[in-house]
Amino acid sequence: MLQDKDRIFTNLYGDYGFDLSSAKQRGDWKDTKSLIEKGKDWIINEVKVSELRGRGGAGFPTGMKWSFAPKKDANSSRPHYLVINADESEPGTCKDRDILRFEPQKLIEGCLIAAFAVSANVCYVYIRGEYIAESKILQKAIDEAYANSLIGKNASGTGFDFDMFIHMGAGAYICGEETALLESIEGNKGQPRLKPPFPALVGLYGCPTIVNNVETIAVVPTILRRSGKWFAGFGRPRNTGTKIFCISGNVNNPCNVEEEMGVPLKDLIEKHAGGVIGGWDNLQAVIPGGSSMPILSKAICDTIKMDFDALVEAKSGLGTAGIVVIDKSQDIVKVIARIARFYKHESCGQCTPCREGSGWMWRMLVRIQKGEAEIAELDMLMDVTKQIEGHTICAFGEGSSWPVQGLLRHFRTEIEERLNFKNKKIA
Ligand code: SF4
Repeated sequence: MLQDKDRIFTNLYGDYGFDLSSAKQRGDWKDTKSLIEKGKDWIINEVKVSELRGRGGAGFPTGMKWSFAPKKDANSSRPHYLVINADESEPGTCKDRDILRFEPQKLIEGCLIAAFAVSANVCYVYIRGEYIAESKILQKAIDEAYANSLIGKNASGTGFDFDMFIHMGAGAYICGEETALLESIEGNKGQPRLKPPFPALVGLYGCPTIVNNVETIAVVPTILRRSGKWFAGFGRPRNTGTKIFCISGNVNNPCNVEEEMGVPLKDLIEKHAGGVIGGWDNLQAVIPGGSSMPILSKAICDTIKMDFDALVEAKSGLGTAGIVVIDKSQDIVKVIARIARFYKHESCGQCTPCREGSGWMWRMLVRIQKGEAEIAELDMLMDVTKQIEGHTICAFGEGSSWPVQGLLRHFRTEIEERLNFKNKKIA
């Protein structure tokens, strides 16, 4: 278990103020100037040493992403941008929300440091439309940082100019995809772009842009103060550091908790979330990383450790670390059908496999749930998921088809029994 002395987010539950002086008492903005004065290469290298991987879902190494930003010469007319993805639309995930409302100065300080490292003088924070209260808190925090010369002209006395703006989304799930997010900031429909080119070279307004998740950036100042080696000391290689896990569903005490990467899933549920309702043996399945990640059966949940590679080995993913616990009182087909309906609704419609396939999957799952389908349709449903996966512009295709694949992988026998029973009744 993570010890209190190693917690990065010491106000995760809002027990103390979010204001600047409270944040400073917690250690924020300590020696920021001297960190920046160590230079871009030192900052990027330290983040590489920490092996920090993006906390928004894809898990891309942060230091490597920053190093993709082209070098900017003094005469260059093309600005660079830093964009913070605070869209947090993945069902089961609400960690960035708590950073925005309880630890906003960690994010602002991280933005300044990251922007300096990638030569961006301007940062946009793209916040999901429903987070109105959180955006107001962040704006207050930004105003306070400006008033104290921590950001703005000659930010923190470093000679570096840095401005920060909030851009509100309008509640579309797909705007959490980085290129759709950039389109949305530009005032266009939030639809993903074809990649390449990647945003690091051609991003916002056609300029080099680094897009990072809220949690990823908020941990950077602590990593630099305590060293990349310290952060890499948690977890195992390629899966390092601490992480905020969101635990919801059929547990006694739904919560967010910061833990060491690689913590056993069972510990998270039993020790932090008050256990499964009805006890561990009442567990049916778990969605480990937000609704787009394939479910895990109870047998896997008994022993699985929560990190990127362990979950990939279990044919799922850490995603956003939004853990949704499903007990035996739930109709598992109904759960996945509900998720499929969500993705059908949120598809942006550009790619035929996603636009049409997401509706197909939902309608087939509803027929299966009601026991109206033939057993042969289960293979057909798996085939539909394979026609979507890997055949679309963005990862939404995978996000919508993986939950269905997980259902068929782990619960096929139960589903076949259900369909056989109904078919027999009809005969
Ligand atoms: Fe839009 Fe779906 Fe294609 Fe992504 S995969 S671009 S959400 S239609």
